[in-house]
Amino acid sequence: MTVLRRRWKRWSRLWREARAFARTMHSTRHPFLAQIIPIRRCNLACTYCNEFDDFSPPVPTEEMYNRIDRLTALRTAVITFSGGEPLLHPDLDALITRARSGEAIVTVITNGLLLSPDRIRRLNRAGLDYLQISIDNVTPDDVSKKSLKSLDRRLQWLAEYSEFAVTINSVLGSAIRIPEDAFVIAQRARQLGLTSTVGMLHDQHGAILGLDEKQQAAYQRMRELQPGLFSFAQFAAFQRNLAAGQPNDWHCRAGARFLYICEEGKVHYCSQQRGAPGIPLSAYTREDMERSFKSRKGCEPFCSISCVHQVALLDRFREQPAEALQQILDAQRETDAAFRTPASVRALAWLFLDPRRRRIFGKLALKTLGVGGTQSTP
Ligand code: SF4
Ligand code: SF4
Repeated sequence: MTVLRRRWKRWSRLWREARAFARTMHSTRHPFLAQIIPIRRCNLACTYCNEFDDFSPPVPTEEMYNRIDRLTALRTAVITFSGGEPLLHPDLDALITRARSGEAIVTVITNGLLLSPDRIRRLNRAGLDYLQISIDNVTPDDVSKKSLKSLDRRLQWLAEYSEFAVTINSVLGSAIRIPEDAFVIAQRARQLGLTSTVGMLHDQHGAILGLDEKQQAAYQRMRELQPGLFSFAQFAAFQRNLAAGQPNDWHCRAGARFLYICEEGKVHYCSQQRGAPGIPLSAYTREDMERSFKSRKGCEPFCSISCVHQVALLDRFREQPAEALQQILDAQRETDAAFRTPASVRALAWLFLDPRRRRIFGKLALKTLGVGGTQSTP
């Protein structure tokens, strides 16, 4: 029964993701991803982290409902609950259900320590789509207790009971004592049938200024795990430059396509640029989004915030589909010389890269997915 329910939920998620992708390609007038903070408090105190405290109360549930409804009204495609530690919010399940009552795909970023079989089943019932855990090391140390040793049992429970997709993010950066741990963590995640990604620790401005030799070697091993064309290669180009201490030339769309909503209900560009623009979500308008969509933030070159890079890549696809696809395929070939473009990607490229065919098949795809309205770009 669980297997069937999992399959059904997976297909339903894929359908909603296809709709979200189509809406994002169709118009830039709505956020793709909003990260919202239901509680700033955390039950851990990782020494590199500037996103938590040890005292804040949960944001009142009614207030959270208002913020979630506002994100729904803005037609946000993905709503992510983050923190602090979001599982400390007593009504997180109800918040997830509220977010799912619109069109959004709903995700949670957690340190995983509060997970139990019962908690996982409650998240299933709430309608959660994705859960992400970052694991910093194999055994806990002074910097971080988010270790494989502390979390392995929880990962097994997730593999057994979750009906949502689970991503394990292993981390590289100056605060991580043993870079090879990232590889061990990724392998364990894959062994359990969970998705693995790699992230890089940034400074308090979201920047990273290169990895040392050992860290670069670990990063290279992670790349060679090749979890899939669209789950890794898209990050490879920007991460590879950052790992080598090189800047990236890209357009951050934070404040428009990506919103960070703090515990006070204000919109910020991202967790590392809090204060800008710092406007309450309740008063955040399409004009604010248009301004942010166009503006250059100044911190782009060394930014390591992968979810904002990911969102920017969607807009790059929208504006320069052939070049964006080529970038992904080139990144994949760098790690695997024998890589051949999958037939499904070749078929999609044939349908949508040629402008004339794109007009015809694009309309058809939007109609099939039930996505309509006036196309418009800020
Ligand atoms: S678990 Fe996450 S939010 Fe908590 S201190 Fe560590 S990095 Fe920060
Ligand atoms: S480039 Fe964008 S995502 Fe990165 S730190 Fe600056 S505002 Fe944040």
